[in-house]
Amino acid sequence: MIEIPNALEIILRHAGPLPTETVPLNLALSRVLAESVASDIDSPPYTKALMDGYAVRSADCTAPATLTIIEEVAAGQVATRTVEAGQATRIMTGAPIPAGADAVVPHEQTESTGNTVRVGRPVRAGESILPRAREMRLGEVVVPEGTRVTPQAIGLLATVGRSSVCVHRRPRVAILATGDEVVEAGNPLTLGQIRNSNGPMLVAMADHAGAVTEYLGIARDNRESLKTLVARGLDNADVLVLAGGVSAGKFDLVPEVLAAAGMTAHFHKVRMKPGKPLLFGTRGNQLVFGLPGNPVSSFVGFELFVRPALRKMMGHSQPGPTFVPLPLAAALATQNNRPTYVPAQIEKVDALRVRVRTSFGSADLRGLLGADALVSLPAGTVEYAAGDAIPTLML
Ligand code: AMP
Ligand code: MG
Repeated sequence: MIEIPNALEIILRHAGPLPTETVPLNLALSRVLAESVASDIDSPPYTKALMDGYAVRSADCTAPATLTIIEEVAAGQVATRTVEAGQATRIMTGAPIPAGADAVVPHEQTESTGNTVRVGRPVRAGESILPRAREMRLGEVVVPEGTRVTPQAIGLLATVGRSSVCVHRRPRVAILATGDEVVEAGNPLTLGQIRNSNGPMLVAMADHAGAVTEYLGIARDNRESLKTLVARGLDNADVLVLAGGVSAGKFDLVPEVLAAAGMTAHFHKVRMKPGKPLLFGTRGNQLVFGLPGNPVSSFVGFELFVRPALRKMMGHSQPGPTFVPLPLAAALATQNNRPTYVPAQIEKVDALRVRVRTSFGSADLRGLLGADALVSLPAGTVEYAAGDAIPTLML
């Protein structure tokens, strides 16, 4: 049995960034850049007006001044005349500043009559204008390698002329449920049977984590059935995730079948609750996770171990899981024989607080519904007061 940090270290050592591919920008959301992207332009490409108003010479406006309007420039147009002493040009937001002018006075701070405009206050050079290349210079790296492609990143990448980018490939994840008693939703249940919640849940978790997910169905608790589906999973996947059949029971055949399929086991038990029987192995570059069958256990196992592996494969430099200290909403007394994770809810009143949810154990998915965090409790007896900080993993 190994400790959680140890387990994570072993997993991350075996999970490397996947090869790269070039994808259209509109398909790059949530991927991680495998190249550094430089700007192909100065931005702004010319010194531009930040307000609708009048382009003026600040030297003319050290005191209230009346200026002659010589021209009007709309966005997309370019001034044809130089602003000379005593003159101003009507200008729109985004338009290039005419030669001679060094500031823009917002329209609402002026009074115009006919072809003159009155500026009633002193104007500083540079007011309401953005100099050429102030945001970025041609050739400057603006989106470094390793950046997660967010909507903002997509906007910036388009600004610098990119319609495609080089990113890490998405991991292919195969999901396999196991158990003679497990039945897919849509079928009648007889006594002793339970519905397959892990299969659909783990598929959703892998999808959500950005993987290309393949669902293999339910393997029965016999070598033949497991062997067939494990082989199908290992045929093409980067990561095979099984749920159930990994503990020490008579019908827990997963470790044996995986070993026969060529997997090297790295650990088989982690000192944690829920989900102590957790198997991790590799076959070449392929990762294999055997998660415990109880749905909350497999959920926690995925969050703590599978998701960080997927993040690392997708090129994230900080694969997590990232626990942040948050104040407890209520006092909490706990007694655990192993480090324990419990579902919790983040409350946003004035500040963020975290409230532990009532749970009826590791099969209680209802207790998990509405949880947007897991909190980490140490082994032993601990009493927390309301407001005490507790390590919290946001889901
Ligand atoms: P196991 O790890 O196979 O011993 O399973 C532990 C518990 O989780 C048993 O009560 C199983 O019935 C239950 N279980 C296993 N697989 C699933 C599944 N796919 N969906 C829901 N419950 C499951
Ligand atoms: Mg089972």
